[in-house]
Amino acid sequence: MSWVLYRILVIAWILALIFIIYIQHPLFWASPKWKRLELIKKSKHFVNGQFKNLSKTPLMTYSKISPRWNSWLNLIKKAKEWVRPPRIPSIKTDLFSLDRTIDCLVWFGHSSYFMQLWGKRFLIDPTLVTGSPVPFINKPFPCADVYKTPDIPAIDYLIITHDHYDHLDYFTVKALRNRIWKVICWLWVGAHFERWGFIQKDIIEMDWEDQFVDNWITITSLPARHFSWRLFSPNNTLWSSFMVEWDKKCIYIAWDWWYDTFYRDIWKKWKIDFAILENGQYSKNWRYIHTLPEQLPQTIKELWAKYVIPAHNSKYALSTHLWNEPLEILSKEAKENWFNLLTPKIWELLDFNAKKYSFTNRWEDVKDSDYLFMNFVKKW
Ligand SMILES: [Zn+2]
Repeated sequence: MSWVLYRILVIAWILALIFIIYIQHPLFWASPKWKRLELIKKSKHFVNGQFKNLSKTPLMTYSKISPRWNSWLNLIKKAKEWVRPPRIPSIKTDLFSLDRTIDCLVWFGHSSYFMQLWGKRFLIDPTLVTGSPVPFINKPFPCADVYKTPDIPAIDYLIITHDHYDHLDYFTVKALRNRIWKVICWLWVGAHFERWGFIQKDIIEMDWEDQFVDNWITITSLPARHFSWRLFSPNNTLWSSFMVEWDKKCIYIAWDWWYDTFYRDIWKKWKIDFAILENGQYSKNWRYIHTLPEQLPQTIKELWAKYVIPAHNSKYALSTHLWNEPLEILSKEAKENWFNLLTPKIWELLDFNAKKYSFTNRWEDVKDSDYLFMNFVKKW
């Protein structure tokens, strides 16, 4: 064996060993047992060891090998051309001094939200430490992570829509552990929380169409068309969209999903006031699991939502599109299709009972001079 080959084999062996040790970390996987396992087996959406979408959903749609490489080459090329912005504008809302009587929403970038209804505090898909299994990969955009876990007060319900790292961040959950009362998640995901030190009675696991009620607040679990994958086995945990009803109002929350015919029926049951919908991190290669901006108006029309709030953008570059492209397209579509778009900045308060909203197009606050400044700093 040549000296070079020997060295390659040793390096490969060390890397494999590091990988094997690293994936033992509790952030990666957890197996359901007893009652939790029984519930999964009983679900009509769990077939042959995997959860299934209502419609056939291919993960990737590459026609040949080359588009995949093109897509990665584009990412590298476009990194220079503003896939990542120089900064993301934000406004500080002090959540500790927030009046409990205000029903409101505060966005932390991507799909992370704080929501307060009837004095109850919810945290949805918070990624306040990292959105990746390896923290130095998938860094947040500059200034999109100005607020951290110490800025979060005690939470009544932590809601996790699915197990992808940009939605279920182990490090955020661990940092907030003592400030979270209950966890609402979907089948199998509760096993992660048990492994991370939560007790069984504090974890509410749902299947699609299940309901959770806390006094005057009702959460109804609804399907979504997506997938789950945390380490090796795809689709062993359930993903979901959901409807929140309180005070004769309705919020529909759906991200990481693609259009499906069941959206047509939602408006028949609910008169939606606010729809928080995915608008970012798409690719034509993932057209059945993420929404392309040109597909969104159709869904908005079918949902008949009074206001639309775009999520899943402005914090991470998980695809190859320019960071502001989904927002530019959607604001143009809002004018053409006459729907009301609400685009608060990161940590800017959205009062659900406001008579009128006057949020600016926040992505337009990032000027050409910011890019020039960023390039200047990089050079020196
Ligand atoms: Zn996502």
